[in-house]
Amino acid sequence: MSELIRFSMADEPANLRALRQEVRGFIKDQMACGAMVPSPYGWAEPNAAFSRALGQKKWIGMTWPSVYGGHERSAIERFVVTEELLAAGAPIRAHWVADRQSGPLLLKFGTEAQKQAFLPRIARGECFFCIGMSEPDSGSDLASIRTKAEKVEGGWKVTGTKIWTSNAHRVDMMILFVRTGPRGESRREGVSQFLVDLTLPGITIRPIINLAGEHDFNEVIFEEAFIPDDMVIGTIENGWKQVTNELVYERSGPDRWTSTFHVLDAMRSLVRRHPSATRQAEVARLTARLWTLHQMSTSVAGMLENGEVPNTEAALVKDLGTTFEQDIPEVARKIFPEELRETDEDFAQFNEALRYCTLYAPGYTLRGGTKEILRGIIAKSLGLK
Ligand SMILES: Cc1cc2nc3c(=O)[nH]c(=O)nc-3n(C[C@H](O)[C@H](O)[C@H](O)COP(=O)(O)OP(=O)(O)OC[C@H]3O[C@@H](n4cnc5c(N)ncnc54)[C@H](O)[C@@H]3O)c2cc1C
Repeated sequence: MSELIRFSMADEPANLRALRQEVRGFIKDQMACGAMVPSPYGWAEPNAAFSRALGQKKWIGMTWPSVYGGHERSAIERFVVTEELLAAGAPIRAHWVADRQSGPLLLKFGTEAQKQAFLPRIARGECFFCIGMSEPDSGSDLASIRTKAEKVEGGWKVTGTKIWTSNAHRVDMMILFVRTGPRGESRREGVSQFLVDLTLPGITIRPIINLAGEHDFNEVIFEEAFIPDDMVIGTIENGWKQVTNELVYERSGPDRWTSTFHVLDAMRSLVRRHPSATRQAEVARLTARLWTLHQMSTSVAGMLENGEVPNTEAALVKDLGTTFEQDIPEVARKIFPEELRETDEDFAQFNEALRYCTLYAPGYTLRGGTKEILRGIIAKSLGLK
């Protein structure tokens, strides 16, 4: 394996196995009391009450210092909890972005006042975030953003449009990536990040209806919205370094290969009841890929724990992981033909899960950076570009 790309492998220590069991027990209890209902949508559902219950369990902000409401656990422990929640289809969507990337970003670059104001609320499952990066003409080429912030007395006036902003209509805050100066020669200069309260005047959130006919992402329009100086994250014009850090958190976790895990899990049971050599082989192949992704993603969690910024490894996990997520519904339709699924009652629930993930699957390889962009990052680090 290239020295430039490293995935060190380690066996899971026994204490982590105990933690896995604890999460499984928690999920069982949540289901027993009706707080968590298994859904054909997997973990993608927002459920603020469930997020608060996880906060009470100390499973949000797990790795953050206790002075900011965190629980000082390791990145690997957080990985284990996350993986178990995702595999069980727990509705973690409400707090997910805040726990995965906004909180860690604030911890690294935020002011003391920002850390104290936001991190404890995030860790309690009481403050939710969305990602304000993409714009109508700037997705892959993120440095080309045009939403601009002009310096005014006591703060900044923001004008422009963000697009595809998942969950903006359900959350409290956005981490906004914004232009505060000219692009410069490197094309990555003049960008900054702000913490934005989405209820401020001058901000309009408009729904965009997706392929499934649902309102999940949005257009967010800023019309001279005033953002006070104390909501600047890190240093003005240090935005490129900060946003690439944020993207590592966004790209490397188990949420990038578990969006359709519940469908694979159902396929496993269905193959037992409707066996054939082809079906068994296909499900076994998917399971082997799942296990490889688990190992690679665990390794990235280890690197994050050591304070590294594994850009390339994260890009690799996301590229392989999201392709895997997309392949699951494809394989499902191939091995369980429509004639069987439509006539056998055994498939009723499965069909709804399959319908949903077929409609959402095209987005898996787009959100958080497209395959082409990720492969560009990988090629560059191998000296191929
Ligand atoms: C379900 C979903 C949720 C999302 N949620 C959010 C969110 O919450 N917040 C947010 O900010 N954004 C969000 N996005 C936006 C997402 O990050 C962008 O769609 C993505 O970065 C691609 O940008 P684009 O759509 O502008 O496509 P473009 O950048 O216009 O790309 C179009 C095509 O050209 C290819 N391409 C572009 N540049 C290159 C290149 N240099 N080399 C090779 N190929 C290239 C791309 O790979 C792609 O296939 C979401 C998207 C989806 C689908």
